[in-house]
Amino acid sequence: MKQFIIEMEQYAEEHNIPIIEKESIAYIMKYIKKNNIKNILEIGSAIGYSSILMASASPDVYVTTIEKDETKYMECLKNVKKCGMENKINVVFQDALEVNLNNDVKYDLIFIDAAKGQYTKFFEKFKYFLTEDGTIVSDNLKFHGYVGNSSKIESKNLQGLVSKIEKYIEFLKDNEEFDTKFYDLGDGLSFSVRKNANR
Ligand code: MG
Repeated sequence: MKQFIIEMEQYAEEHNIPIIEKESIAYIMKYIKKNNIKNILEIGSAIGYSSILMASASPDVYVTTIEKDETKYMECLKNVKKCGMENKINVVFQDALEVNLNNDVKYDLIFIDAAKGQYTKFFEKFKYFLTEDGTIVSDNLKFHGYVGNSSKIESKNLQGLVSKIEKYIEFLKDNEEFDTKFYDLGDGLSFSVRKNANR
């Protein structure tokens, strides 16, 4: 398993695929164990690195992960099979904003790690699939240090993206339903729970 994780890290680096930073995923895995989290929804599988690590945090963790890019989806499926986690990880090939999830299934943790410009939409859509005491985790809130410095960015596309992340952070800070804690881990992580949540 350890060797396979290292291979995935190497693959991601060679193919320029961003994966979660080690200290961030380590913190999430600790959080999963501590809070007895069982059912996880992940938005943005990439190559399955974080799905596989989250699923390995504890024997009864199940992950549903959604990926809209076909190449990444195929790579993720392959990796899930390689480590024998087909029974713990369900990989869905679809745009998360278009996916129709079963309304009866709720998740203890929802991990948002997909298109950075869409985080507010993901949050608003998927909060209905969160258990009462569940947590929404968001990655890349620093966006490689650009967040907070968007006026200095020359590329219009990048500036647009970064300003959307800044707006998402404001959205979390001002949210009337959820309390959010921000952590300066990896590329910036946040944990949002409902104001009355028992967590
Ligand atoms: Mg990420």
